[in-house]
Amino acid sequence: MPVLTAKTLIVLTLTLGVCAPVPGAAMMSSAGDGTVAWSSVMESSAVAAAPLATRSAARRYWVRDRHYYFSDWYAGRHRKMIAFGCTAAPYYDPDPRCAHQRGFHHGLDVAMPCGTRLYAGFRTRVVAPAAPGSLGPAYGRHAFRLRSARFHVDFVIGHVRKVYVKPGHLVRRGQLMARASDAAAPDGCHLHFEVRPSGGTYESAIGPRDYIRLRLTRH
Ligand SMILES: [Zn+2]
Repeated sequence: MPVLTAKTLIVLTLTLGVCAPVPGAAMMSSAGDGTVAWSSVMESSAVAAAPLATRSAARRYWVRDRHYYFSDWYAGRHRKMIAFGCTAAPYYDPDPRCAHQRGFHHGLDVAMPCGTRLYAGFRTRVVAPAAPGSLGPAYGRHAFRLRSARFHVDFVIGHVRKVYVKPGHLVRRGQLMARASDAAAPDGCHLHFEVRPSGGTYESAIGPRDYIRLRLTRH
């Protein structure tokens, strides 16, 4: 879950060579889970010039795997950005599970061009936004969840813009659901794919590998 913490701001400030004080905390909003949403910071003109430089710098935190993968969940083939689990990426609060004050990423991020089509990898139903385990703003304002009765899990589809499905809709496998974006993401357009036990919170997220089912390609 991409979030902006005080640590992130310090890192970004150093990365950009900005000597000015870190943008005021008043511009940030709590995500309700001890984290802080990037989106509200982005509204500040004080950091308006930051995203481009930040996004290229953010690549340093990507996984070393440079392969491109197909998946039933998106169009085209794309690289992984940030894996599930402990990460050196500075967008997450320190987590007791991780050494060196590192944060825990609750999903898998796959980099892709803004607007990439996102499909349902399984037959699912769109979860009502207010149902238990509701998403904070760090996922982007259009993020949503899909529930699989077959696997008893929820899929979180984060950082999207257009969404073509509505709460309560039954979504068939292969159906176009949304478009990828960088909503609330400090590191560019990507799909945040997260898996939780049905109705669970981000803290209960499990490894998404068996569900996103990335397929390696030659390139
Ligand atoms: Zn993510």
